[in-house]
Amino acid sequence: MRSISVFRRWQEVERLRAERNAVANKMKGKLEPSVRQAFVEEGKNLKEALVALEEDLVQLTDRLQQEAQSIPNITHPDVPIGGEESSIVRKMVGCQPEFSFAVRDHLQIGKDLDLFDFDAASEVSGSKFYYLKNEAVLLEMGLINWALSEVTKKGFTPLITPEIVRSSVVEKCGFQPRGQNTQVYSIEGSDQCLIGTAEIPVGGIHMDSILPDSALPLKYVAFSHCFRTEAGAAGAATRGLYRVHQFSKVEMFIFCQPEDSNMYHEELIQIEEDLFTSLGLHFKTLDMATGDLGAPAYRKFDVEAWMPGLGRFGEISSASNCTDYQSRRLGIRFRPSLSDASPANSKKGKGSAAPTQFVHTLNATACAVPRMIVCLLENFQQEDGSVVIPEPLRPFMGGLQVLSPKF
Ligand code: AMP
Repeated sequence: MRSISVFRRWQEVERLRAERNAVANKMKGKLEPSVRQAFVEEGKNLKEALVALEEDLVQLTDRLQQEAQSIPNITHPDVPIGGEESSIVRKMVGCQPEFSFAVRDHLQIGKDLDLFDFDAASEVSGSKFYYLKNEAVLLEMGLINWALSEVTKKGFTPLITPEIVRSSVVEKCGFQPRGQNTQVYSIEGSDQCLIGTAEIPVGGIHMDSILPDSALPLKYVAFSHCFRTEAGAAGAATRGLYRVHQFSKVEMFIFCQPEDSNMYHEELIQIEEDLFTSLGLHFKTLDMATGDLGAPAYRKFDVEAWMPGLGRFGEISSASNCTDYQSRRLGIRFRPSLSDASPANSKKGKGSAAPTQFVHTLNATACAVPRMIVCLLENFQQEDGSVVIPEPLRPFMGGLQVLSPKF
């Protein structure tokens, strides 16, 4: 209904514009004063009517765009249909660690090793905030540098992104910055938001561009802090570091040609699996069901790792193929061959006659730090209260091998 009324309003606006132009043309020649006066009156009336209709058209278009934002992407034919429980396990790696002592959760381990301060953070910032202390700081920095270094080795360009972005970019990436249960912190008195994920500023890096096909794929690995309201989140899995309002994340992002996006989706999940395997985690990879995809994803693979303190698997990463859902909204196209454009100078692309197409975008977590800290502390805890650091992380933590209690 709304799209019809937008179209009709647009037709009316166009008709009035044509009439106003016709009147203006008639006034170009020599005219009797009374005739000229009649045209002036007619032109004035048409202008007033046009202003009102144009305002209405802007409002209708805004409403139509808001409605369009809520329409999700189509899904891959193999995606299981249903809620979270319908998701299919694609792969299982490792097995549950066995402990000959009473297992502690990450909160208890953190307390024993003096790694966190939730009480002070709660006073200073509010609940679900935290200070990291002592070796936890090295662990966070080590995880970030390890993930950036591993993914950069695979040909991804490292980035550190802005953490405040325009609300319009958040919307174009398929997130809702306003409305009930929004996960996005908006900045009062501005049109800007804090990012919930680096996917948003990386997605926006080529907005309103036409890329030459020779530039694709563009692969980025970005570090950012993430800010989430976590509206509606409750339950045991929200304790401690598991679900917090601010956290560090290393995110992979690919811009590619449409026919390649399923292949790059497999590449991204493989990188995630290699990273988590190298740390010695027990995890499973899931093909997420339609009800759990979110608006932009065509297909999503999540990784859930075993968290002994929690006594169950918990999500540690997510890899999504968003096909052209984000690129249509962000205006990111490529020109198949013949183009002499480059990413740097291709704004509004000039040069080649080849028709442009929308790129496909993909994003995937390389390392969401707090859940990785939960996994490492709980899986590698020892009877004497210490925690063994997995070997790949040690070079990024000044060679530290074990977190030991300070008795
Ligand atoms: P997403 O960008 O929503 O796919 O999340 C990527 C990863 O970030 C998830 O798989 C979690 O490991 C982690 N994550 C998401 N939300 C939170 C949060 N509120 N607190 C801590 N980690 C989170």
